[in-house]
Amino acid sequence: MRSYPRVLIAGGGIGGLTAALALSRMGCEVEVYEQAAELREVGAGLQLAANGTRVLYALGVGEALEALSCEAESKEIRIWNSGETWKLFDLGKVSIERYGYPYLTVYRPDLLGVLERALQREKRAAIHLGAKCVGFEQDGDSVSLRLEDGKAVKGDALVGADGVHSHIRQGLFGPDRPQFTGIVAWRGIVPMEQLPPRMVRMVGTNWVGPGGHVVHYPLRAGKVMNFVGALERSDWQVESWSARGTTGELAADFAGWHDDVHALIRNIPLPFKWALMVRPPMERWSVGRVTLLGDACHSMVPFLAQGANMAIEDGFILARALTELPGEVPSRLKAYEKARRERTRRAVEGSADNIQRFHNRALADPAGARAYVDREWARAPIAERYEWLFRYDVTSADLD
Ligand SMILES: Cc1cc2nc3c(=O)[nH]c(=O)nc-3n(C[C@H](O)[C@H](O)[C@H](O)COP(=O)(O)OP(=O)(O)OC[C@H]3O[C@@H](n4cnc5c(N)ncnc54)[C@H](O)[C@@H]3O)c2cc1C
Repeated sequence: MRSYPRVLIAGGGIGGLTAALALSRMGCEVEVYEQAAELREVGAGLQLAANGTRVLYALGVGEALEALSCEAESKEIRIWNSGETWKLFDLGKVSIERYGYPYLTVYRPDLLGVLERALQREKRAAIHLGAKCVGFEQDGDSVSLRLEDGKAVKGDALVGADGVHSHIRQGLFGPDRPQFTGIVAWRGIVPMEQLPPRMVRMVGTNWVGPGGHVVHYPLRAGKVMNFVGALERSDWQVESWSARGTTGELAADFAGWHDDVHALIRNIPLPFKWALMVRPPMERWSVGRVTLLGDACHSMVPFLAQGANMAIEDGFILARALTELPGEVPSRLKAYEKARRERTRRAVEGSADNIQRFHNRALADPAGARAYVDREWARAPIAERYEWLFRYDVTSADLD
């Protein structure tokens, strides 16, 4: 008879909670240990493509999330200073027609809330808040997770879903050496009613310029606009979700950019900044009964908007490997890792490739910019960059 392991998860972010929900739905007992006192990310947005929303529908939370999200109608590229615009495709409609699932823009706290409420209805799952994980030990029979308050908990498998600075990864492989990309990402939320009427549209926009780019899209049924502005500068290197900057500093970073970009910046009450780091793809991320998922093992720059989508996919495939495969826990974890390594490596590299594409020097002058956008955002290169991502189906992906 198949055995269902008892799984410990360090970290209750998007990846950890998705894994917990998938594991408990598939028959495992699961305990999540999250260091924060409440499950609340800094309020920012997230683009979830069909490969991620497919998972959330498979777990029965798609409808609840959709009710809180925005299905942006279309996507456009704009030139940083002139504002010249290219309409790319009808995002919402095309996503459902082609891949069967919507492309949603989601407020992160809403996504965590939907996952948390679904977990609260599960008999086999529990979330422990204010529970910082500080280490682990394993032997042939079990794994023990140590918490900051001195307690230890035992399970059959441990999953490090504890983000870019993962303690569990460091416990497995030692300290990591992230490399600064020379890019700072600014984030903020703008109340829609503060924007000029011409900007109140259900459209995802990507402004591209030499050395920087800005992405904005509507959230929460169009009540707010999410802003992400990435800019090359080397004087600030803190990789953090909660480091604050000022509107003045943000406006100075984007000096010379179009008025519409500044209309957004002026109306961000509280801008956050994050120094973008890269880590080379890991050769392996499971040792015995311990594995990793999400940013803990394949963090990427956010230029494909796929980091959270990958963490969500990981959670579902991990649950399938632990419940569908025969054999001992370590071999099932190895199969999970094998199923994920190549795809996540491609996403890490594809995101890094977009740095050059979005910030290209060819965008400096209008004629060069026009030719460059016509080439890079033509139908064929877009399909090559995104089709393989959006088509992936976690429910039927091979596991062996
Ligand atoms: C500016 C920006 C924009 C982005 N936009 C997108 C996008 O549009 N689409 C997309 O798919 N991705 C996007 N991403 C990437 C995405 O945010 C991440 O890939 C995703 O959050 C990873 O989820 P995770 O669960 O692996 O890690 P996290 O979300 O970092 O969660 C880790 C959790 O572990 C907890 N934790 C950490 N250490 C411990 C410990 N010792 N003990 C207990 N708990 C611990 C943390 O408190 C946290 O709750 C973006 C990233 C950035 C920076």
